[in-house]
Amino acid sequence: LAKEHGKNNFQYYNEGLNTQSTRKMVLEVGLRKALDTNQFNMVYQPQFELETGTIIGVEALIRWEHPELGPISPVEFIPIAEETGLIVQIGKWILQQVCRDYNQWKQHGHGSIKMAVNISVRQMQEQEFISSVKQVMEEYNVDPNMFELEITESIMQNINQSIVILKELKQLGVKIAIDDFGKGYSSLSYLKHLPIDKIKVDKSFVDDILDPTHNGSIAKAIIDMGHNMKFTVIAEGIEEEKQVDFLLKNNCKLGQGFFFSKPLPEYEIMKLLS
Ligand code: C2E
Ligand code: MG
Ligand code: MG
Ligand code: MG
Repeated sequence: LAKEHGKNNFQYYNEGLNTQSTRKMVLEVGLRKALDTNQFNMVYQPQFELETGTIIGVEALIRWEHPELGPISPVEFIPIAEETGLIVQIGKWILQQVCRDYNQWKQHGHGSIKMAVNISVRQMQEQEFISSVKQVMEEYNVDPNMFELEITESIMQNINQSIVILKELKQLGVKIAIDDFGKGYSSLSYLKHLPIDKIKVDKSFVDDILDPTHNGSIAKAIIDMGHNMKFTVIAEGIEEEKQVDFLLKNNCKLGQGFFFSKPLPEYEIMKLLS
């Protein structure tokens, strides 16, 4: 084929080197080696009770340090890990890592904080997912009740399958949170069929609180709806005190964001808890 297109093909290839798709290929190749060469690590963002400032839990977030390209955002590499199926192995590693770190805190008397773990839909749909979660939690002897799995509204695309999977997960004892809530325009009528414990108000609506034209009206609507449906409600991406005031005034009791703390390594969390 290359011969056929001759020069043109070469030109095309050359231009291709500078495109997104080449970066994606480089990342994909890199991802395949990243687990074995310890390029990942986990950081944890504390979640707070807004009224008292007490840490009630942490959200685990993955970090990847590429040997040549430096830090790569999970926003960029998680979708590639999903497409290639690598998310299954990476997801298992994440779970092992968070269980280990959780046990560290617990050994130091901080076993009462909750651990939230992001799960991608592709990972959740894997045959072995439930048994793998169960196996890792047993292996590390952690209480599933202290663990919360964060999934996005994209699970709604496969609602019947999702209901089955989520119900099985709930039977293990883990809690379920809907991440980035409101961003995915999920049908509220479906929401009530899912065994959900918590919704996380998406950062965009928390940002809106500071916007004089919106005055946080959507954030308020989501908080009220969440409470009406008996979900726990947490706000994410809080960056300013004004937002905390608004959230408290509107009965949202939990939050996380750079205003309180950025994501931190395991030992920094230990220091915070002590
Ligand atoms: P997410 O689960 O909604 O996580 C929140 C993201 O917002 C994190 O970015 C966090 O560092 C950032 N953040 C927290 N507070 C603030 C704030 O006040 N202001 C701003 N501007 N940002 C804030 P991060 O770590 O880059 O993760 C991005 C997304 O990548 C996550 O969104 C999640 O969807 C995905 N992700 C991260 N870690 C994992 C993981 O371990 N597994 C899976 N499956 N996905 C992950
Ligand atoms: Mg999350
Ligand atoms: Mg989120
Ligand atoms: Mg997000």
